[in-house]
Amino acid sequence: MDGHAMLGKVDGPTKAPMVILHSNNELDQWLAAAAGPVHFVPTMGGLHRGHQQLIRAARRAGARVLVSVFVNPTQFGAGEDFTTYPRHPDGDAQQAGAAGADAVWFPAMDHVYGAANPGDNPGRSGPPLKPFLIRTLCGPWRPGHFEGVLMVMERLLERVQPAVVVMGEKDWQQLTVLRQCLPAFYEQRCRLLPVPVVREEDGLPYSSRNSRLSPAQRRQAALLPQGLGDAAAAVQGGERRAAVLEQLVRRRLDAAGLAVDYAQLVDPLTLQPCPHLDGVALLGVAVHVGPARLLDHRFLLSRKPIIAIDGPAGTGKSTVTRLLAARLGLLHLDTGAMYRAVAWLMLENRQPIRSGEALQQLLETMELRLAWGDHGQQVIRINGVDVSDAVRLPRVTATVPRVAALPEVRQVLTRQQRMFGRQGGLVSEGRDMGTAVFPHAELKVYLTATAAERARRRAADMTQRGQTPPPLATLEVQIAERDHLDCTRTEAPLRPAEDGVVVATDGISVEQVVDKLEDLFHQRLSHEAWPAGHH
Ligand code: C5P
Repeated sequence: MDGHAMLGKVDGPTKAPMVILHSNNELDQWLAAAAGPVHFVPTMGGLHRGHQQLIRAARRAGARVLVSVFVNPTQFGAGEDFTTYPRHPDGDAQQAGAAGADAVWFPAMDHVYGAANPGDNPGRSGPPLKPFLIRTLCGPWRPGHFEGVLMVMERLLERVQPAVVVMGEKDWQQLTVLRQCLPAFYEQRCRLLPVPVVREEDGLPYSSRNSRLSPAQRRQAALLPQGLGDAAAAVQGGERRAAVLEQLVRRRLDAAGLAVDYAQLVDPLTLQPCPHLDGVALLGVAVHVGPARLLDHRFLLSRKPIIAIDGPAGTGKSTVTRLLAARLGLLHLDTGAMYRAVAWLMLENRQPIRSGEALQQLLETMELRLAWGDHGQQVIRINGVDVSDAVRLPRVTATVPRVAALPEVRQVLTRQQRMFGRQGGLVSEGRDMGTAVFPHAELKVYLTATAAERARRRAADMTQRGQTPPPLATLEVQIAERDHLDCTRTEAPLRPAEDGVVVATDGISVEQVVDKLEDLFHQRLSHEAWPAGHH
């Protein structure tokens, strides 16, 4: 492209040299020069290994990676370090190229804000900020900061129209604000890909501002992850009180004479203060070290995470739960199989499906055991008999909703499910996971699909199990009847949890549903704290 400085090849013989872009025209030409998605890494420059990790994460076959370098004045407050913020365009281009960027864009102020001095453009505004997200952490300390971040991101995204935006998890509040307040993200016009914090050897997160520290200050900065480590160790030892955990972080920093803006335990999704750790919370901290204000956080877990998945039959719940559990290294708890096992036992005993003496006796003597095979598949035994296959028989399926409506049965099984949940580490599927059994689950999902779609899926499922499905219309009626019973029973009826996420699965693949749930999970627990795979 004319007028673009070229850097040497960075990535083998097939990759074109990296391009440097300045004006909007140059950017537009570059965007138009090839088809295919653009993966965008917005930065304020001062690139370091953390940024390089973002660039590497952005690289995908067929996609072009664009890095922007723009020190955004509207996100700096009075007395903050806008003028001294590190600016090294040559170094930035070098680093971006080495990590595999296809282009770096250095917009000037008027390219983004339409006026050389943003103060000349009084009409400037960004998308509305949800006020509750800035009540904690950096919000009170940096008035106007998140408004400025939203404003610049909206403008950059409008111009670039990327398919994917890659951002670091380090600035967790920024990530959360963008995700919940920027229409491009919540309307899913573009995907936000979060990347784990990259840390230096002593645990300090890479940050452009670290370059402003003297060697002595740099050593002091390491107290930040150390203080957070103290809090994590206290959690291991059973401490749950936010005030104590926060104080542990402050203690180290105070002792070194550093000015702490905050050390605060919050809910990672809503960013509301969390007085007591119950499950997963984020401990965020901001401290002044010499000329720099540094941020770090740590996720604290009082147990492993729990994901609750509810919904009617035939929404693909089981497959989705199994795949999600495998991806996240969690155990798949199929509670439907537990209700089915009790129904199987009652049918075996030719016992009437109702409350009373006989049921009491059956429940008191019943031994329900769950185990998991090498591939995470749940094996269920009742009174010593492996019923993993038998519980899928149509006569069991037809009986189970009436069994599941019996309060005594629910009580016994709910208690057993909660026992499994004590240590966490579960993706549990059922009808009342988020509403009754695990109301404190980190993520509660309600899967839905139209009745026709669910009948089709149920038929395919039966065929796969070697059963002959009835006609679709019959299946649809059966499913509707079962839903009706599940939704109208008095005890723990099927309904979405108030703070749950409803996911409609019509017309999207199982993989896409699993991707979506994985995204939702990582909005509540970072990739750094819970990487993919086994734990
Ligand atoms: O999910 P699955 O089809 O195996 O569930 C069978 C039945 O078990 C459901 O229709 C419902 O009546 C009951 N069930 C329940 N609560 C759960 C799981 C299943 O009532 N947590």
